Amino acid sequence: MSKIQGKVIKVAGPLVVADGMAGAKVFEVVRVSHMGLVGEIIELDGDKASIQVYEDTSGVAPGEPVVATGDTMSVELAPGLLESIYDGIQRPLTEIEKESKSAFIARGIDVPGISRTKKWDFKPVAKEGDKLEGGDILGEVEETVLITHKVMVPPQISGTLKSIKKGEHTVEEVVAVIDGDDGKTHEIKMLQRWSIRIPRPVAESQVPNRPLITGTRSIDTFFSVAKGGAACIPGPFGAGKTVTQQSLAKYCDAEVIVYIGCGERGNEMTEVLTEFPHLKDPNTGEPLMKRTIMIANTSNMPVAAREASIYTGITIAEYYRDMGYNVALMADSTSRWAEAMREISGRLEEMPGEEGYPAYLGSRIAGFYERAGSVTCKGQDQRAGSLTVVGAVSPPGGDLSEPVTQNTLRVNKAFWGLDAGLAYKRHFPSINWLNSYSLYTENISDFWAKEVAEDFAENRSQAMTLLQEESKLEEIVKLVGMEALSNRERLVLLVAKSVREDFLFQNAFDAEDAYTPLKKQYGILKSILAIYKAGLKVISGEDFEFKNLQALPVLQEVAKAKDLKESAEFEALAQKVESEISNLK
Ligand code: ADP
Repeated sequence: MSKIQGKVIKVAGPLVVADGMAGAKVFEVVRVSHMGLVGEIIELDGDKASIQVYEDTSGVAPGEPVVATGDTMSVELAPGLLESIYDGIQRPLTEIEKESKSAFIARGIDVPGISRTKKWDFKPVAKEGDKLEGGDILGEVEETVLITHKVMVPPQISGTLKSIKKGEHTVEEVVAVIDGDDGKTHEIKMLQRWSIRIPRPVAESQVPNRPLITGTRSIDTFFSVAKGGAACIPGPFGAGKTVTQQSLAKYCDAEVIVYIGCGERGNEMTEVLTEFPHLKDPNTGEPLMKRTIMIANTSNMPVAAREASIYTGITIAEYYRDMGYNVALMADSTSRWAEAMREISGRLEEMPGEEGYPAYLGSRIAGFYERAGSVTCKGQDQRAGSLTVVGAVSPPGGDLSEPVTQNTLRVNKAFWGLDAGLAYKRHFPSINWLNSYSLYTENISDFWAKEVAEDFAENRSQAMTLLQEESKLEEIVKLVGMEALSNRERLVLLVAKSVREDFLFQNAFDAEDAYTPLKKQYGILKSILAIYKAGLKVISGEDFEFKNLQALPVLQEVAKAKDLKESAEFEALAQKVESEISNLK
């Protein structure tokens, strides 16, 4: 096949314009200049192509060749993805470092994202003669000790299984042959490709009704995100976005994690990259990387690759969802992704929208988060899978009215607003309990009632109401002082303070405190609320002295409830609170 080859006519940072490209397609991958830099056509006008180049374009001059490859921008999907650390276009950073003997990626370098030599033990699940559809599982490979990789029939293929080969294979060897319903013979390898800008198909979308359990109390109890839901964490610099995202990546109960470090400073990403490989999964004791794929595109890497990193990450995440896993994707920070879009759009001389972002900013953001979901996967076994997406947003100056935050809020149902004031006071996680929300609560309350406790949702809403009342009372106290408050109002302040300090405050760096199981979260909150319930019964007494309640030693025990473990211990504490407060009557 004769390849389309044009010539560079203009270079503007990450954008190269080439002519002589008639016949090429939008989203087609091209190789630019004698160095063979990887690029993608993003606009075609006659024979002129605008190309975003994923590598540094300095030194590229007009007249140099541009060769179309015929492929769209895709990711490689196969065993070997887990434990990898990739750049924005799936080049394996660790292997590249070995090959180029430098931490910097030499330009035009061709190292495949998946090893071509490693052999995997393929265990067939399907049998010769089976009628198969797209998504059906052909066989399994133990990819890591934590994850069994399901080799699936590609979504668009159906037919009868003609042969299947058990045993050790590289990802490029044929493991199955299908006589297709389309009359063609399909040779299936473990290595498959998928275009990053096209969502992978599912059989059916489901309503997300199970929580993603993170171990972070303010998230799980107050602002829970459902498995298959989408959440955003906006917050100014230093408020704790990265710490929160990493804590989710470490502890949440998804089976597979995709972590995208997008446009953050190199040293921050280095911290993640050096720390993560040493961390152990708290549930299994195995290294966390065995269930993780990292994509790192730091601020010093080319912006176009940053634009692509989000799509590379979510396509890989969808692939594991399709196997029937619960997958969670963290993107830190989507604002840097939006800035990459803005820069490329500016170079394309497109009409700018709000704050210079392209007019399509909103639809791109929506398109990304809409790839989250709780689904019935393709395949005749109707297995379930989910993809939860958590995106950090860094609004300049913490101004939530800016376009990236606003467009994100429009499509996300959980909002964890990080607050500079709380972070300054060292209240972590600095999730503001007054403006954060979760619209998943109603759908997951059945789960809470069945799996945790009947009154979980009730306690939660009572605690939140107390915090709202506290914020109003604080205004009054500022104006007229504590003396003006009734005993009931004082009780509200006392209990709300305990909710904040003893429940919501959580140290991500303390091995014990960093993760709290749901039942324990319930137990802590219940013992705090017991103060309120019992207090209400005694404070109306005529000469009730509020300071007697404040001085009760059992309140100190509630403050240390975090140290308890068993449900029975929490029950006992709640009863002790109840009886000691009742005695004050
Ligand atoms: P951002 O990504 O929003 O710029 P970071 O996540 O880097 O902010 O957090 C800044 C600092 O705040 C951290 O280095 C840490 O000291 C502190 N911090 C944030 N979250 C927590 C937490 N949950 N527990 C303890 N300290 C935290």
